[in-house]
Amino acid sequence: MKTQKIAPTLFAFVSLLGCVQKSDTRPNILFIMTDDHALSAISAYNGFLAKVAPTPNIDRIANEGIRFNNMFCTNSISGPSRAAILTGKFAHVNGFYKNEGGGDFDGSQQTFPKLLQENGYQTALIGKWHLGTSPTGFDFYKVLFNKEGQGSYFDPVFETSGGLIVEEKGKYSTNVIKEGALNWLKTQRDKDKPFMLMYQFKAPHRPWEPGPGYENYLADVTIPHPATFDDDYSGRPAAKDAWMRIDGHLNRKNLKIQPPKNLTKDELSAWNSFGNEDGEFWTPDSTMSDEQRKDWKFQRYAKDYLRCVKAADDAIGEVLDYLDKSGLAENTIVIYTSDQGFYVGEHGWFDKRFMYEESMHMPLLIRYPAKIKAGQVNDDLLLNIDFAPTLLDLAETKIPADVQGKSFLPILNNLADGDFREAVYYHYYEFPYWHHVQPHYGIRTSRYKLIHFYYSMDVWELYDLENDPHEMKNLIEEQEYKTIIEDLKIQLFKLMKENNMNLSLSELRAMTDARIERLYKVEDAN
Ligand code: CA
Repeated sequence: MKTQKIAPTLFAFVSLLGCVQKSDTRPNILFIMTDDHALSAISAYNGFLAKVAPTPNIDRIANEGIRFNNMFCTNSISGPSRAAILTGKFAHVNGFYKNEGGGDFDGSQQTFPKLLQENGYQTALIGKWHLGTSPTGFDFYKVLFNKEGQGSYFDPVFETSGGLIVEEKGKYSTNVIKEGALNWLKTQRDKDKPFMLMYQFKAPHRPWEPGPGYENYLADVTIPHPATFDDDYSGRPAAKDAWMRIDGHLNRKNLKIQPPKNLTKDELSAWNSFGNEDGEFWTPDSTMSDEQRKDWKFQRYAKDYLRCVKAADDAIGEVLDYLDKSGLAENTIVIYTSDQGFYVGEHGWFDKRFMYEESMHMPLLIRYPAKIKAGQVNDDLLLNIDFAPTLLDLAETKIPADVQGKSFLPILNNLADGDFREAVYYHYYEFPYWHHVQPHYGIRTSRYKLIHFYYSMDVWELYDLENDPHEMKNLIEEQEYKTIIEDLKIQLFKLMKENNMNLSLSELRAMTDARIERLYKVEDAN
């Protein structure tokens, strides 16, 4: 605890001068998180969508601060990534490892917002939470409540502090969340305390519904295909087995196809969701070739996705502008991230889950004018469990010994030695819903990635990211990589052991099979 207290005599002197000194000068923290925002869809990362769909407001954070190129999630789905961020612990330790049948987040456990709150910060959370149980550790919260916490783009329903339910009829999710954040900053916070505000969007999560004013953005543009758009998954059976192909598994509702009239509720639901599972083929026009149909679906999907991104980018810009105007910008750390990455056509996919680059990566941009030099780029291997210790460190709050992540404050202070971490461990547990992705774990170093798919197949994959950044060639059978594979396996099992992951494969499969009922159940309001 390092709260600075001004001595009474000094305080009296300062008061005599007519200056009102704040007793606590620790930085404010604005933690901005979107849902499913791919690095390729953030122009600061210079990916294949940077020119066609720029994000100038999010880019501001990178340009005026630091861009991290290698922040990874430990499990590429929403709830587990959020739980890892809050606790600084892997899923097998914080207990939240699946969205589907994995129960709810245990909110009685230690989280960084709670520790900040206990140490004099005013804490608030506005937007998507998606952890089932009501938020703990916040002086104020307003979180998406309907659709089991996913929330809806239109007419979203929120739970606010004290368990009050608020229906925002006729409103758009991104706008409500922006207004909530601005309102809290302007009128609700205690200006004598430093704050930590989590400003978290539903966008650009499925079903990618553009908001008012964004419906025609990109209407006259052709979205380019990524380099791996026509991947045939050779040598990668788990990739081939996944139900997340643009052509094969996008349903009609996701692509906003008007259903026939006079369907019953059940018929409408079946019609809308048709396409989710393997073999459910549909086409908007039977005269289209395979290639035309895949591109048609891609254009439709990518444009709606990018429209949702654009609205979030503008909403972020408005809050950054408020920080400038109010004089808060200098002493406020602004963090931009997303709960994990996403496929915008890479490997012919949408969605996430895999340990492959596009979904394992999280964007991370940080601005803190008082301490961080503008325009920096960093390649260290970071994990989402590092957020909690880093934010505690920035707020001069003790990091508990049981936190598994590592503070990267030395990187922000330019005091790091360039070797922050040698490798990261990843683990995905959910199967078969959604998207039929085989559970897997693995290790990634700055050059290699080794993955083991273990649930109903026993397949190892090795990638040399220097020679094959798109992970198209599985090198596991290549003789020349034999020693590298052996070394990586030793390193992987050591990393797992160090992080208290001692479960056998059959115990891991049982975790996938477990169906822990969610206590958090709400009737959909729409
Ligand atoms: Ca997500």
